[in-house]
Amino acid sequence: MDSAKRSRVEAWLQYGNDLGLGPYFVARTESAVSSAHASAPTPSTSMNMAPAAKSSAKSVAAAAGSVATPLSCSKSGPSLPIISVSAGPTLFEAAERVPGETLDDIRADLGECTRCRLHKARTKIVFGVGNPKAELVFVGEGPGHDEDIQGEPFVGRAGKLLTQMIEAMSLRREDVYICNVVKCRPPENRLPDKDEIAVCSPFLLRQLAAIQPKVICCLGACSAQTLLATTQGISRFRGEWFDFRGSKLIATYHPAYLLRNPPAKSEVWKDLQKVMAVLGLQPKKR
Ligand code: URA
Repeated sequence: MDSAKRSRVEAWLQYGNDLGLGPYFVARTESAVSSAHASAPTPSTSMNMAPAAKSSAKSVAAAAGSVATPLSCSKSGPSLPIISVSAGPTLFEAAERVPGETLDDIRADLGECTRCRLHKARTKIVFGVGNPKAELVFVGEGPGHDEDIQGEPFVGRAGKLLTQMIEAMSLRREDVYICNVVKCRPPENRLPDKDEIAVCSPFLLRQLAAIQPKVICCLGACSAQTLLATTQGISRFRGEWFDFRGSKLIATYHPAYLLRNPPAKSEVWKDLQKVMAVLGLQPKKR
């Protein structure tokens, strides 16, 4: 295909991808997936994930430059059909990325948001809290009941556990920044819908761009899948490093999951120790 035609096709794929359409083809074998990757255009933005090493992360990493790109990958199967879209800003980012903006600018732009249906049942918008120059940002899924009432992320039971995790890293809550993929509570604590994530996640991306943390720690599948643009199960790539627009990104289990499944705490602690190593932190002395 000549390069002009190829560019047009890539632009259309990107356009459809931004609209949440696709995937456009299904690779039937692992090798088909690999060759699809090999022929994908070279990423030109750091949104493209570059896992440090392991092969299990490579298919996650192949998702190119968009937010919540719907990949048709199954959680269980080995082969992951990947749409290869060109790198570069998505429609949302192109419209909403403002260089040099602060968290206050972004909060002001969010306003009393009514962009999606989640605004109808919310009490307070939960924008985010913490150090605007944090080296470490935790990203959760969305506010729960307590957060909705107080307007602050991670203040309920799961939040208390997150605070303990932060303190075990010899940090305080106010040293880090904490936010969510969606800023309004999904009713009955359901998962945020794809369209809600698509509307709200540009604000998360702008928060991350304003803070430029050294490390982003995704808490649970929703934030990891949103930022890595994958539908792979979190256990496939938990604890691995990815590059995310100049930050290092790692995903670990959500504190709410740990409340239900305490043995998984040891896995999370391993992940947090990796974060501490990058940030030069020693565990808190007991
Ligand atoms: N769970 C989340 O993902 N975020 C919160 O703010 C609270 C609970």
